[in-house]
Amino acid sequence: MVKAIVIRKTGGPEVMEYVDVEVGDPGPGEVRIRHAACGLNFIDIYFRIGLYPQPLPGGLGQEASGVIEAIGPGVVGFKAGDRVAYAGRPNGAYSEARVMPAAILVKLPDAISFDTAAAAMLQGLTVEYLFGRTIPLKGGETILFHAAAGGVGLIAAQWARALGVTMIGTVSSDEKGALALAAGCTHVINSKTENIVERVKEITHGKGVPAVFDSIGKDTFIDSLDCLSPLGTMVSFGSASGPVPPFSLNELVSRGSLYITRPSLPNYVSTRADLDAASANLFEMIASKKVNIEINQRYALKDVAQAHADLEARKTTGSTILIP
Ligand code: NDP
Repeated sequence: MVKAIVIRKTGGPEVMEYVDVEVGDPGPGEVRIRHAACGLNFIDIYFRIGLYPQPLPGGLGQEASGVIEAIGPGVVGFKAGDRVAYAGRPNGAYSEARVMPAAILVKLPDAISFDTAAAAMLQGLTVEYLFGRTIPLKGGETILFHAAAGGVGLIAAQWARALGVTMIGTVSSDEKGALALAAGCTHVINSKTENIVERVKEITHGKGVPAVFDSIGKDTFIDSLDCLSPLGTMVSFGSASGPVPPFSLNELVSRGSLYITRPSLPNYVSTRADLDAASANLFEMIASKKVNIEINQRYALKDVAQAHADLEARKTTGSTILIP
């Protein structure tokens, strides 16, 4: 038996129960992993509240690091004792140990600690594909990136600086603004006290930006479109404030033939080759110190309800890990 978080119904942080669960032996294509640290991500909230459905009762959590304890039939490339990490479905990372598909595991280089891996896999691989493949940034561009002091945001700011990209970040307080600037944003906009569209137009001398990375969703969607230059691309990759309501395609033509995409990490790391290449790229950014994974909150796994409440209340900055 191991301790794990289980939800029997969707709802507030209180639906997460810290209970004993049975962990069996790995089946074909599976491994059993003993977790060293688990990552906390906004997507865990979407599953907890039911925005993203899953069979119940079920586990939560999509990201962790640890050591392989046992290997199922047919698993190649991994062995018991390997240091590994992962980001992806199925949920169940909020646990001391679990059985899971080997297909989403990557081996950890010595330079990457368990804590860093648990914090970086999901958020870091996201920045890797957003800047490398959704909008292949070359350097010299100016972009707008929302929630710049969050987990994804602080990694994005550092990655943008390394690429020579001018990142305008939005934040909800001056304290968060200072963090985002220190990480690599060239400009920050305090969304509580400033008008995002006006400030972006000011900074870009009226032109707007060629790409907006919007993970806030409902509250910022139209403002984000208004920040784009003609033929610009709206990258809508999350909905921290709620899902984007249905909209008319005319919103895109009236603002200058805009593009829009709604990307998701699993689609960008669905093959072993893509997962290994993206992970190697992320680990290199960390090992070369171009990106520092800022773990600004740590909670015991049993205190996950507090961790969720803090993330939802916008009290966290950078990345957060849960220690089983
Ligand atoms: P963050 O640490 O960025 O936390 C979310 C932040 O969103 C808050 O800190 C807050 O920053 C901002 N926010 C704005 N409005 C709200 C609101 N109403 N409620 C709560 N937060 C709000 O989380 P993550 O780094 O884990 O994830 C960031 C976003 O990226 C999420 O939307 C997530 O779903 C998305 N994501 C998408 C992926 C994909 O592949 N599509 C993969 C990974 C993450 P502030 O107070 O400064 O405004």
